[in-house]
Amino acid sequence: MKLDQLVRPNILNLKPYSSARDEFKGEASVYLDANENPYNLPLNRYPDPLQWKVKEKIAAIKKIDPHWIFLGNGSDEPIDLAYRVFCEPAVDNVVAIDPTYGMYRVAAGVNNVEYRKVLLNDRFDFSADDLLRATDQHTKLIFLCSPNNPTGNSLDRDQMIKTVENFSGIVIVDEAYINFSSQLSLLGELEHYSNLLVFQTFSKAWGSAAVRLGMAFAVPEIIALLNKVKYPYNVNRLTQDYALQMLAKSDHVAEWVKILLQERTRLQNMLAAAPFVEKVYPTDANFLLVKVSDANALYGKLIKKGIVVRNRHTLSLCGNCLRITVGTPFENDALIAALYKV
Ligand SMILES: *Cc1c(COP(=O)(O)O)cnc(C)c1O
Repeated sequence: MKLDQLVRPNILNLKPYSSARDEFKGEASVYLDANENPYNLPLNRYPDPLQWKVKEKIAAIKKIDPHWIFLGNGSDEPIDLAYRVFCEPAVDNVVAIDPTYGMYRVAAGVNNVEYRKVLLNDRFDFSADDLLRATDQHTKLIFLCSPNNPTGNSLDRDQMIKTVENFSGIVIVDEAYINFSSQLSLLGELEHYSNLLVFQTFSKAWGSAAVRLGMAFAVPEIIALLNKVKYPYNVNRLTQDYALQMLAKSDHVAEWVKILLQERTRLQNMLAAAPFVEKVYPTDANFLLVKVSDANALYGKLIKKGIVVRNRHTLSLCGNCLRITVGTPFENDALIAALYKV
């Protein structure tokens, strides 16, 4: 299917806002074009609307062309923009695996778009055929998340590719936890599939949840649509500067990931032997989904000891499950000690 036929007509016809920084690009000695205050350098100036310096650094690390990158205010922004670009409220729908990350459903609700859930199997995996069967001519987006939150596992790569190949809309693969995974990112598949949209984030392995920087990767035609709808200066100067500092320290990130993966294995083993723990599910992320005898009770007892985990008891397939983030060795020991004392 042609991309134009997937896009909402109002977005296709939209003439986007053109900022001062859009109309003049390049270096000048005197800037009198944006009604900025000439004092209070450097934050007096509007930031680069398309964040080229940051994108060039990301492009080098991810081995991708900068024109294939969108940057937003966390992953929340490209999730919402995908709805606003492709889904006509009260007409179109999206399909997602269940259970998965809650923001896909919330953004559907905000945009008044029907959200169709397809239950994962008992290994928390899916089949492309089941997912595609839930689609109809009004399905614009399919949401996959790999490694999946809250289950922790990576989805079957062949089934993800099969979904992309057989769906005439956009397939979003959220790779927020990809740095912790033994599986290869789908970034390398983008050049083969013009309907694939991959999300990553600075919030997890990059240790920068507070700065709010999300990445989306796709063919330039999709990136251009996201850029058309975003707020003109959606990523502020402080975030862009901070991201450049972090991108220069990618060896730190590799070191953190290495430690967290060691701690993940240690925590897996200790939890498996702990009282009340019935099952520790396999994980490819920086958290563990753990089935316990009574999740609500254990959650409450841990809170009383000052330890907060995520109670996922009410989610599909997650009855009596807690989601536990891998912390520092000290934090993980504190969790285990608390479990033995409750
Ligand atoms: C944590 C997480 C994100 C990150 O969201 P940000 O808005 O970038 O902080 C995205 N997707 C999933 C599945 C997550 O668990």
